[in-house]
Amino acid sequence: MKIIMLGAPGAGKGTQAQRIAEKYGIPHISTGDIFRSNIKAGTELGKKAKSFIDQGLLVPDEVTIGMLLDRIHEADCKNGYILDGVPRTIGQAEALDQAGVTFDHVLSIEISDAEIEERMEGRRVCSTCGAPYHIHAKPPKQEGICDSCGGVLMQRDDDRPETVRHRLEVYHSETEPLKGYYESKGILNPIPNQPTIEGTTEVIMEALKA
Ligand code: AMP
Repeated sequence: MKIIMLGAPGAGKGTQAQRIAEKYGIPHISTGDIFRSNIKAGTELGKKAKSFIDQGLLVPDEVTIGMLLDRIHEADCKNGYILDGVPRTIGQAEALDQAGVTFDHVLSIEISDAEIEERMEGRRVCSTCGAPYHIHAKPPKQEGICDSCGGVLMQRDDDRPETVRHRLEVYHSETEPLKGYYESKGILNPIPNQPTIEGTTEVIMEALKA
């Protein structure tokens, strides 16, 4: 089972991808998480990515795709995986095609920009394990503390309102064209966002059965 999760920044891709990964027993691969852990560890890759990420810009395709191809060739990916936040440009999708990587489903979470902007304000992430939270929609059991690992929750720098608006513009111009790209391959499943996280998960699980 190889799945791509599309959707605007803040659409809930990470939360939904984690649920699908658990249900199907496949790894959840988020290029954003990989970049953030490299930045934290101070690696060469992290240094290359940091200035782009802080400005709400995309990391160049050659950096992203090299890293992704290495990851999907690891042993835990042999039965499939779910990609979250990648591909993000037509160039990245073509690079995956050229590398012979094919997909079963492309899920695209559909949600308005206004809702995204409102929602991003409350978004938090574990500074240790990267698990996503929201102060209203998905609060941790103890305020400011990760349920899974006890790490401290923080707001990402790129979740600041002006950066969010810029990231939405980048999404519409660079990433949204991927919907047409995968629709023409017959594997696009638009997922209308639901009022609750569980509701959206249900719509996704139905789409994956088809
Ligand atoms: P995310 O956690 O998916 O929202 O990603 C955070 C940031 O990492 C993005 O705003 C980009 O700067 C960078 N990034 C993540 N995935 C990609 C990708 N596939 N291509 C280019 N940049 C990416």
